[in-house]
Amino acid sequence: MMLTPRSTASHSQFKISAMSDDERKLEPLPAAWSLNLAEWRAQIAAWGAPAYRATQIWQGLYKQLAESWEALPVLPAALRQALATQFDVAVLSLREMQDAPDGVRKLLCACRDGELIESVLIPAEERFTLCISSQAGCAFGCVFCASGAAGLARNLSAGEIVGQVVLASRWLRAQQAGRTDAQSTTTPLGRPQNIVVMGMGEPLANYDALLQALRIINAPDGINVGARHITISTCGVVPGIQRLADEGLQFELSVSLHAPNDALRNRLMPVNKRWPLQELLATCRDYTEKTGRIVTFEYTLVAGLNDQPVHARELADRLGGWKCRVNLIPLSPVAEFDGAAPDGRVCEAFQHAMEAARINTTQRRSRGRQVDAACGQLRLRRHQEADRT
Ligand code: SAH
Repeated sequence: MMLTPRSTASHSQFKISAMSDDERKLEPLPAAWSLNLAEWRAQIAAWGAPAYRATQIWQGLYKQLAESWEALPVLPAALRQALATQFDVAVLSLREMQDAPDGVRKLLCACRDGELIESVLIPAEERFTLCISSQAGCAFGCVFCASGAAGLARNLSAGEIVGQVVLASRWLRAQQAGRTDAQSTTTPLGRPQNIVVMGMGEPLANYDALLQALRIINAPDGINVGARHITISTCGVVPGIQRLADEGLQFELSVSLHAPNDALRNRLMPVNKRWPLQELLATCRDYTEKTGRIVTFEYTLVAGLNDQPVHARELADRLGGWKCRVNLIPLSPVAEFDGAAPDGRVCEAFQHAMEAARINTTQRRSRGRQVDAACGQLRLRRHQEADRT
């Protein structure tokens, strides 16, 4: 990423007149969360400050989870002032939080331009998984997904992706502060242990910002979520999977399949017309060969549509002969799609048919329905309310 000093940007050859103070206010500051440590070091060097200041900034942002530059008195006042004029430490703010009885919490965050994005915090014993968004809205239009119902608003910046983890970490830290029981001392405080990019948007359609953000989330001495605890979920953007295979990273890859043949997948996921199953599955095989990582296929079960034994057999045939996993998800009901989750026995029969064909298959417990946990629902509802008023 290139850092352009703001003074240079405002003197670019395309700007003939000097910016007024009002115009300057309209130009957003880059997010502090969008820089990796090497970029902080370069910035600090450009300012002529000692190199260890970059580490202090990094730890201030990701260990202390500082809400402002003033909250970091370890930095000299002049440096704090320079930082405050050039880097925004609040490109996201927590707008609303919804709780479900099973402990799942949905965070609705507001961007500087008023866009709303969602993340979902899912507890499992003493650990937390955070499901984050990569875009505001989505362009891919899978029929049962609320995120795509209003189309794509825009890509999120790297800082807005990292910011979701920082806001959730702040909330966790506040919750966990003061805990003295044995388990809380063995669990790292104040951050999620797993990150899944399964919220709003298609992560591989926002590739550069996504990778920049995940590297920051993964970096040691910062948030430090291990690469194998970070999952990218895609609807099947083949060039993105190919690019990811060549990065030499250890992130987990999930691919949303939802159908065992092109005719059905075309109906559920328009992306299949661009990259059909055969091409997608061949790319996934290459991914496993190149990275040694096993791909997980997500399969949302919809009653009467893709949940029959014949579908399971067809899916098993397609996936047989190489190492992969299938994760079954009963449909979360959404207003935009006229469909229901199958009966529990139907889901189990599907799983047994897959296992009989020796395909490693799990079933995801559908949690957080009470908080509209299917992607994009809360944002969509708030946008609809805003339109009505
Ligand atoms: N665009 C990415 C990531 C976001 S969606 C992708 O498609 O993988 C994360 C997962 O939730 C996808 O498998 C998606 O198909 C699934 N999903 C979306 N809406 C759902 C719903 N109403 N019920 C069950 N699963 C849903």
